[in-house]
This record gives sequence, C-alpha cells and structure tokens, in this order.
Amino acid sequence: ETLTNQIAAGEVIERPASVVKELVENSLDAGATRIRVDFVDAGLKQIVVQDNGTGIERDQVDLAFTRHATSKISNEHDLFKVSTLGFRGEALASISAVSHVEILTATDGAIGTRATFSGGNKKGQEDAASQKGTKITVQDLFFNTPARLKYLRSPRTEIMKIVDIINRLALGYPQVSFTLSNTGKILLRTTGNGNLKQTVANIYGRHIAEKMEDIEAEDTDFKVTGLISKPELTRSTRNFISILLNGRYIRNFQLNTAIMDGYGSKLEARHYPIAVVSIKVDPLLVDVNVHPTKQEVRLSKEKELSRLITTAISNALVEKVE
Ligand code: ADP
Ligand code: MG
Repeated sequence: ETLTNQIAAGEVIERPASVVKELVENSLDAGATRIRVDFVDAGLKQIVVQDNGTGIERDQVDLAFTRHATSKISNEHDLFKVSTLGFRGEALASISAVSHVEILTATDGAIGTRATFSGGNKKGQEDAASQKGTKITVQDLFFNTPARLKYLRSPRTEIMKIVDIINRLALGYPQVSFTLSNTGKILLRTTGNGNLKQTVANIYGRHIAEKMEDIEAEDTDFKVTGLISKPELTRSTRNFISILLNGRYIRNFQLNTAIMDGYGSKLEARHYPIAVVSIKVDPLLVDVNVHPTKQEVRLSKEKELSRLITTAISNALVEKVE
C-alpha cells in the first residue's frame, strides 16, 4: 500500500503547487467560503491550507487518507456527472505518502480531531479543539522520494506555479475569499464578494480589471460568462487566458482557439488577451476522468461550445455605441 501510494503520488503530486491545488480543491468541495494558504521555502518546507468548510468527522479521517476512498461519488454512474473538483480519492493518500501531514478538522458543533501521517503511515490521532473546518499542514514534501526533488525548478519558478494555481482557483470561485502568503507575507487576497471583476482586480490589478469587457452568452447546453481585455492590454503569452468549466480550471486547445478566434480578428497572431472564460454546463456533458490532475476533460458538443465562445467574445469587444 505504501508503494502504490507513492506511485499514485508520482502522478498526482509533481511539485508543491500540486499539493496546493489538491488541498484547495478539497476545501472548495467542502463548501468553504474562506481559504488561507501559506507556504514556506517554496512549499518544500511547509504548506498550510486552512478552510471553513464542512470539516471531517472523527471516524472518517482514516478513510479520507485511504487511496480511492472518496466521499464525493459512490458508484460508477456518479462518475458521469461529477460536480465536485475531486472524485478520485487519491490526493490525501498521495500527499501523505511523500511528506509529513497533520490534519486538524472539526464538523459543526463537534469536538475536533488532530491526526498525523508520515510517509504513508498513520502516526497518531487525538481529540483537539478546532473551529468548524479543516487545516492541513504538509511538511518536508518529497523527504522520502529524493528523485522527485531533482525535477523541481528554481524556488522562484515553484512559487510562481503556486501563485498561478491560486489565481485560477480564485477566478473560478469569486464567491470564495482566498489569502495566499509566503512565510506570512501576503501575496494575494481576494475579497470573495462574488464579483468576478473584483477578483480580477485583486489578481491582475484594478487598472487591468477596468479595461475588461463582460462576456455573456447562453444556449440550451452552455452558459458562458467572464471578462476579456480590450485589445490595448494585449499580452505576449497565453498564460493570462483562464478557462473554467464548472469552476474547474482546464486546458483545452479547441476552446483556446475559439477564444482567439473571437479576439483574433482584431490583431495579428501571438497577441493574447487577458481573459477569464467561465463555462457552466450539465456535468453529464463532461468527462473529467481523463487524467489524474483533472485539467484535461472530454466535452460533448465541443464544437457548439467553441462557436458560442467565439461569438460571445467578438460581441464583447465590438465597439459599443452609446
Ligand atoms: P477526493 O477529493 O478525490 O475525494 P481526496 O484524497 O482529495 O479525494 O480527499 C479524500 C476525502 O477527504 C474527500 O472525499 C473528503 O471527504 C475528505 N476531505 C478532504 N479534504 C477535506 C476538507 N478540506 N474538508 C472536508 N473534507 C475533506
Ligand atoms: Mg481531492
């Protein structure tokens, strides 16, 4: 079991940013409205994620750290309509296989639980006072898999990857307040008031948010909302394009192309907008069970969606006659 968990960890947990992503996705799935993330030493020494979500019952903690145990789907039919960010039941088992983990968690009104795991083994559990919610502390990531450490980039790059993950999650969940800090120093704070433009302002700056246009379109299957920058704010990399499918940040070539098509008529190639494109769709039309990191999805009616996005974006950028 320890070995299989380490193998699974190799697929899901590539770097500190993967830990941050998985833990924050769990917080979001638990209905948190406030999420704080702090890391030390680019996440290698320590990562702490604290939320005000549902918490975990005392006798469910072991299960949460067991591979393939998930509370989010219960049979193979559910796999075709996943509405949570997680569903594979791999993250906590994988993370605890390659680090030292402490969890402090409490459900509403209950006494809390503190449990510790290390290198895939449980070290202890006790009752502990805690507010409703969950706080997970991950220390000495990859301490027992030194080969993994060699693949990491510079601390600067690893930090950028953490910031990038939090940015995208925050853009997908404007109703959630995120705080990200590096050894206590705040890097990002979103208000969580549900306003996407406000979230964009928190992340990219107010001057950018003010130069963005609303995207809005709908057909029988999809609802597309978001923001796109006016041509004067063009970027030279596509890193500022975020596609969120039911809140999940995804990578999708076709949809990227659709965004560029809606934008592209204005400018030569390799000039990218800053864009947040948020798609709401019935989970039945999405297969998220394609890749362990869940960033690739298979979409029914991708062509229809592409057309809707292209139209929505070109409409958003049409000069408005007052
Ligand atoms: P998955 O998210 O795919 O279900 P994880 O290994 O990430 O698998 O988490 C295992 C289980 O632990 C979840 O299904 C959930 O029940 C519980 N869990 C994990 N993190 C939290 C959290 N922050 N708040 C509440 N429950 C959590
Ligand atoms: Mg998860």
